[in-house]
Amino acid sequence: MSKMLYVKTYGCQMNVYDSSKIQDLLIPHGFMITDTPSESDIVIINTCHIREKASEKLYAELGRLANLKLKKQQDGKDMVVVVAGCVAQAEGKEVVKRAPIVDIVVGPQSYHELPALIEKIRREKKWLISLSFEENKKFDALPMDVSSQSVSAFVSIQEGCDKFCHFCCVPYTRGAEYSRSPEKIIEEISCILDSKNVSEITLLGQNVNAYHGVDRFGNLWTLGRLLENLSQDHRIARLRYTTSHPRDMNDELLFMAHKHPKIMPFIHLPVQSGSDKILKSMNRKHTAMEYLEIIERFRMISDKIQFSSDFIVGYPGETDADFSETLELVKVVGYASAYSFKYSPRPGTPASVMSEQISEEVKQERLAKLQELLEAQRLCFNRKMLEQKVKILLMKDGKHNSQWIGKTEYMQSVIVEKVPYNVKIGDIVTVKITEAFTNSMKGEIQNLS
Ligand code: SF4
Repeated sequence: MSKMLYVKTYGCQMNVYDSSKIQDLLIPHGFMITDTPSESDIVIINTCHIREKASEKLYAELGRLANLKLKKQQDGKDMVVVVAGCVAQAEGKEVVKRAPIVDIVVGPQSYHELPALIEKIRREKKWLISLSFEENKKFDALPMDVSSQSVSAFVSIQEGCDKFCHFCCVPYTRGAEYSRSPEKIIEEISCILDSKNVSEITLLGQNVNAYHGVDRFGNLWTLGRLLENLSQDHRIARLRYTTSHPRDMNDELLFMAHKHPKIMPFIHLPVQSGSDKILKSMNRKHTAMEYLEIIERFRMISDKIQFSSDFIVGYPGETDADFSETLELVKVVGYASAYSFKYSPRPGTPASVMSEQISEEVKQERLAKLQELLEAQRLCFNRKMLEQKVKILLMKDGKHNSQWIGKTEYMQSVIVEKVPYNVKIGDIVTVKITEAFTNSMKGEIQNLS
């Protein structure tokens, strides 16, 4: 009989990708996916350490699962609880100490061991921990195909990071920077394209533009070379890559942005702060001016290119003047969209023990100001599309049966009414934008692109 598997995912696209890989890994071992924890035999919580209060959220979730597990045991059934991802890596044995209902703790580089670990726990009934850092083994062991039904697929090409920004736990939880071989990436993408209705590929990496894969002949591949190769594949309509670090932006990527229409003119380039003092304290390895120069160079190549970014406000030592520099930088760039967060300490990172921690009240005040500015820029960017004809990739059905939702080149959501002729999810269509809001737009389908 099939065993039921429930996977809950927190955090970034990398975690979403990892969760889909975990599902693909376990399905051949007799698991069926469920979205109801109460009917599951195995619950996997794939955690993220980047966002605020990540471990508190995990333990609250485990508290709820404890009741469920107890009820199952009273009914003579069992439920294996797995904690995976970056919190698992960071907290290790502590997870089992604080939440004894947990059976398996598995780090982001050890997912491939899950079938064996689950088998072992069923036999031995003793908790297990696997936190190795051997990324090459993980990627070799994970299946090529993806279970996602989306027309847009993520493919991890690089993991880990050597930058050691002082607020970030990624170098500790995901390990040193590791680039997969280009052949394996191309094979995985080819497999996805063969078996799914996928037309958009997003290459993922914590530091994706630092990609440096080596092929079987010993040749080094950059992200630019990989994009060049993939853009020759007629099955791919759109290519994206994220997340880039300003230090690793290079002329080859600038050139690619101009040369290949399949590479979307929308670049996620986190800056975090507009103050050089704070950037130095964050160990970001670039100044505000260097960041602005990169933006300028891209815009000189093509005025189509737009940017999104990440911001942290209330980093230790951030003064009102530092924060004003962040607002200034935002005004100079003019973002299409952006993510902004209050600084929150991650245990084990240098910033967590810095003096001059900022009060919650000040952080909240600054975040509200920054978000107001970013939202105004987003609305302004969306409104610029009014009456324009833009191409959207039809992603899924809308809230109402009569609607589809598509994405523009800049990831804006566009709601359109379905048309009776031969158009389907996965197609790229030209739409005229009729209404523009902060988080979405409405449009009318004109024709297939
Ligand atoms: S570059 Fe990104 S992933 Fe690496 S340490 Fe800095 S914030 Fe973390």
